[in-house]
Amino acid sequence: MLNYTDLIYGHDKKVPTHQGNKCYINFDNAASTPPFKSVMNYLYREAEWYSSVHRGTGYKSQYSTNKYEAAREIMACFVGADLHHEVVIFTKNTTDAINKVSHYLGNLPGEIVIYTRIEHHSNELPWLKFPNICLELRNGVLDLELLEYLFATHRGKIKLLAVSGASNVTGYTPPIYSLAELAHRYGAKILIDGAQLVPHRPVNMYQPEDPRHLDFLAFSGHKMYAPFGVGVLIGPRSFFKNRSPSQVGGGTVKGIGPAGVIWAEPPDSEEAGSPNVLGALAIAKASEILTGLSWPKLIEHEDALLNYTLEKLSAIPEVIIYDRSRQNRIGVICFNITGNSHYSVAKYLADSRGIGVRNGCFCARSYVRSLLNISGPKAFNKSEFIKQETPGMVRVSFGCYNQFSEVDIFITALQDFIVNNL
Ligand code: PMP
Repeated sequence: MLNYTDLIYGHDKKVPTHQGNKCYINFDNAASTPPFKSVMNYLYREAEWYSSVHRGTGYKSQYSTNKYEAAREIMACFVGADLHHEVVIFTKNTTDAINKVSHYLGNLPGEIVIYTRIEHHSNELPWLKFPNICLELRNGVLDLELLEYLFATHRGKIKLLAVSGASNVTGYTPPIYSLAELAHRYGAKILIDGAQLVPHRPVNMYQPEDPRHLDFLAFSGHKMYAPFGVGVLIGPRSFFKNRSPSQVGGGTVKGIGPAGVIWAEPPDSEEAGSPNVLGALAIAKASEILTGLSWPKLIEHEDALLNYTLEKLSAIPEVIIYDRSRQNRIGVICFNITGNSHYSVAKYLADSRGIGVRNGCFCARSYVRSLLNISGPKAFNKSEFIKQETPGMVRVSFGCYNQFSEVDIFITALQDFIVNNL
């Protein structure tokens, strides 16, 4: 059995609970993962050489510039992007990356963006300013027949399909390469919100001429063991070229004068102001570590944790699980306990055993609402803003370092909760 616990910075930290100090069990990895120790050690070393990038002539500036630019190449390599065709842009996070793409769309009337029912608000709200269609689910998975029908009905009008590589609510992983083929067959581009997928599955953007090619990919460092707030956007270089950038400022211009502004080439045109150099180095290092761990082993471990937890949860009659499928998903499970608020369950887990889970709607209200089978204005009225009354769920999400013994503690805590609260 794999044990990656030791790779994690701070894994041995104890937290206060009602039963004294206990080792923290982090089952909230879909929100943010803890850092890899080797990412932290690497950054401490690099910080000794850290300086401003791009326009400094001093040795440390040159050093940092080289490292920062090398980080782009590492990220491209991590997801099979071709730097002749694509550009790697460092952003604040996935949200920032998707907003950048949405900044450039929507110039032609009548053109449509399709997003899906499973989206996080970061891959939903940026598209609502355009004519849009939300692709629904059928039997818990995206309805590909409906998608083809939409493409055929709006032939030539759909410019983008924006879809999560993995849901942060159920862990469901849509068939992104089939979706890419379909979108390309109808002349559309595809954007993958990789915030949840990239830390848990190898992703290949494929060459532009390959029908499986992913046109845009966005993901975040803080969900893949690299803190310090950085995100990555990869997309066609031509898409960002010769356009007025989404944000302007230092670094975005080649020249400025009475005749106007000459914008810098991407990625510089898209990275206004001083970039997050250590954040970029951190995500690059984390991607190398993930690759080095061996994806098949890591997937096997996370799948085993998922199946073990699903089995244990299914054996408790009071637990309502919102997606029981074992296929095509990463290690995310959402549930409720009959007759209890999601908040009280999450609070009990934290207070009694030091278990960190998430509860609520996970910034994916539409999906959560459809899973809870609630509709109409009552679904999210004002009482939603009182946390305890918000419709929602409890979410457990695994990282590569979680252990079966932690699941056992979690299950015992849930059983105790049920005995005390029903
Ligand atoms: N998409 C998905 C699927 C997510 O889970 C999240 C984070 N919960 C985001 C986008 C947004 O990521 P960030 O907060 O890093 O911008």
